Amino acid sequence: MTKEDLRRTINRIDGRGYKAYKDVKGEYDFGLYRLIIDHVQGDPFAAPSRVRVRLSIERAGFPRDLWGKRVRRIAFCDYIGRQFHRAIRRLTKGHRGMGKSGMVDIDVGRQEILERNAVIVDGRDMEVCFVVGLPAAGRTILGREALEIFFEEIPKVVDKSLFYRSIDQKEILRHVDVAEDQEVMRGLLDERGLVAFVAGESMLPRRSGVDDRPLEAGAIPLKAPFELDLEMELPHRGRIKGMGIPKGVTLIVGGGFHGKSTLLNAIERGVYNHIPGDGREYVVTNGAAVKIRAEDGRRIEKANISPFITNLPFGKDTVRFCTDNASGSTSQAANIMEALEVGAQVLLIDEDTSATNFMVRDERMQELVAKDREPITPFVDKVHKLYADLGVSTILVMGGSGDYFDVADIVIMMDNYQPLCVTQHVKEIAARHVSRRVDEGGDTFGEVTPRRPLSASFDPSRGKREVKIDAKGSRTILYGTTSIDLSCLEQLVDMSQTRAIGRMIHYYSEKYLHSSRSLKEGMELVMKDVEEMGLDCLIPYRVGNLAMPRVFEVAGAINRMRSLKVE
Ligand code: ADP
Ligand code: MG
Repeated sequence: MTKEDLRRTINRIDGRGYKAYKDVKGEYDFGLYRLIIDHVQGDPFAAPSRVRVRLSIERAGFPRDLWGKRVRRIAFCDYIGRQFHRAIRRLTKGHRGMGKSGMVDIDVGRQEILERNAVIVDGRDMEVCFVVGLPAAGRTILGREALEIFFEEIPKVVDKSLFYRSIDQKEILRHVDVAEDQEVMRGLLDERGLVAFVAGESMLPRRSGVDDRPLEAGAIPLKAPFELDLEMELPHRGRIKGMGIPKGVTLIVGGGFHGKSTLLNAIERGVYNHIPGDGREYVVTNGAAVKIRAEDGRRIEKANISPFITNLPFGKDTVRFCTDNASGSTSQAANIMEALEVGAQVLLIDEDTSATNFMVRDERMQELVAKDREPITPFVDKVHKLYADLGVSTILVMGGSGDYFDVADIVIMMDNYQPLCVTQHVKEIAARHVSRRVDEGGDTFGEVTPRRPLSASFDPSRGKREVKIDAKGSRTILYGTTSIDLSCLEQLVDMSQTRAIGRMIHYYSEKYLHSSRSLKEGMELVMKDVEEMGLDCLIPYRVGNLAMPRVFEVAGAINRMRSLKVE
């Protein structure tokens, strides 16, 4: 159909009841682009209608260099989405009429550059998927307003954001280059024997605990201590210097409020690429680094936490440990074992969010409470074996106990927000004050046991009604009649990731759940499909509000389902 067909339809249904809007569904030729109205909302208060704009990427003028390679394509699409969003803000009138009438919106990223399905490159086309609140007064169609949206506002937005000639060409190139540099840096970590790299001059502090943008004033740029000073060669930025954090056990110490958690938080987020200007765009971390914390109250389903916990009162099993209400220590142990189960290579731990009795047990306590009366083997006695046996490194913030001095390979002291390497000094102190605590960790780390989820765990249906899976805020998934609490998955950064996780759980249960397949194997198949086919393979229609999560957060969500059952 041509755009004149759309105009005629809107004129015809003007002033009629809202249901008549169903007639605008369809694909319309707007000359330079095609407008596709996929889904029409049932009333002005319902979720807004889903619309796409599709155009030839060549006709839009974008050089192939910007979108040819995968990592560049993801950054390219991310940038276009942000541009489209900005243009909406500038060029549309917004709310007019009832409910969502008149709103135009697109799902965009914040500080991270994630793969999303709001903007995709599909063959020779690019496609932008967004939502429009079809305008009404009461339930009466406001045809004139609708015409304004489709024939004035959206064409302007498209013109200003989807053509190479009308956007800032330097800025988009930089966006894409910076993303590629981060990917290259992350790829270099392993061969350089590193788990993370924090470039000099990085700006780590954030505005607030709920605002992830860089601190506006007074942020002190990071200077790498010379002992850990390294150089990397990047394809676009060239040579960059900074602090390399080697594999093994790294301790971050320092006085309270000196920037320890801020450094660890930046390292946590270094698994993702960041936008230029974020301040952390040259902070990169091994992509299999997982933040671990205590999470009392969570459910645990047959996790083997025996490396850390044995001999519970009343002979409770810790090889297949189940509880509906975990304690601080058992939850932290389960969080570690579940992360290892799906392939974590680095653990990131902050004393601020850890269970004390899980982290330390000093010599006096060892004397008072004999080992056979204490179920917990503290992390300090396992952290080195974790690296020796499984090759899993740990970066640990610990300002409160010197017991870790004996097991740390590297010690970084945060001093007025600056990292100093104090490894030598720490070794001297450890030699002078010999610890008389006994290593309770045994000879080996212990077993990581793969589990096989059962299909009975994943029934989102509500009687005869359609399956409903959605996100409520960025850390809660609504899965049928139950909700999954992800508030302790600290590396989940975007509500669109949360939505995708809900869908991925469903996809996994429909397609790859099999009695002979471990959770890890199932997760790998899901991740591979989504990487190869795109997020759209998760839903039978185009939605444009999903972003790519990591396997750790997907598995983390499954592990937190109150209905999970494993064999
Ligand atoms: P710690 O974990 O050592 O107690 P935090 O990392 O929580 O300290 O940091 C304490 C405060 O200092 C936070 O408000 C943080 O935003 C701020 N801060 C951290 N690093 C910097 C920096 N480089 N420049 C300015 N402020 C910083
Ligand atoms: Mg702290």
